Amino acid sequence: PYDLPDEIKTELQEEVAQIAFNRYPSEQPTRLRDALAEREGVDPESIIVGNGSNELTYTFGLTLLDPGTPMVLPRPLFSLYEKIARLQDADLTEVPPRDDLRFDTDGLVEAVRETGARLTVLATPNNPTGRAMTTEEIERVAAASPGVVVVDEAYVEFNTEPSAVTLMDKHPNVIVLRTMSKAFGLAGTRIGYLIGQPPVVRESMKARLPFKVSRFEEATALALLRRPDLLEERGR
Ligand SMILES: *Cc1c(COP(=O)(O)O)cnc(C)c1O
Repeated sequence: PYDLPDEIKTELQEEVAQIAFNRYPSEQPTRLRDALAEREGVDPESIIVGNGSNELTYTFGLTLLDPGTPMVLPRPLFSLYEKIARLQDADLTEVPPRDDLRFDTDGLVEAVRETGARLTVLATPNNPTGRAMTTEEIERVAAASPGVVVVDEAYVEFNTEPSAVTLMDKHPNVIVLRTMSKAFGLAGTRIGYLIGQPPVVRESMKARLPFKVSRFEEATALALLRRPDLLEERGR
């Protein structure tokens, strides 16, 4: 519900006036990537900044899925993941929720083992249920999975569990997806990012369209990151 405060909008007008509109942005918005890396405590090489996390979903879908690739999704889940599975003609296995609408961790562990899933997507806290997974539950799926496990953390700022980024050293198959659309309130500006091990990040870059993040978007995100107090008020 929070728009960017007027004082930041005014500050941005001056910055935007300085932007070279005739110049392509760099392939990755490096100042923003560095700022996000510092915030997350990871190397900049572990991050891809994208045009919203939706764009990065397409990127890892293109990177990891071919016709017939085994893929596991829990239900109910943000609908874009099923769409990319269908577009790429992946061999999709869906795992129904438990009665309380939480993901069925036992069912997911069994499904990733049985299918040899190359891609599994978890969302925590999930949209549309608001249910969160414990770190231990995510770790069980990651440990059982022969392929990549994407953890969509669009609402991580409202969660009390630590981020799945804490699992990445032990489980290098974990990729975390973040967005500035929700707690940061930048849905209209389109900034999302992916955190993964550098080899996974390098492979994913090969599938991406270039120049997805404009100079304007980078400046907006940086202006907001300079104001951590705003986020503090909105979270927990
Ligand atoms: C809103 C939302 C996203 C969003 O994405 P952007 O493309 O970054 O705006 C991704 N996943 C979930 C679960 C969401 O609710």
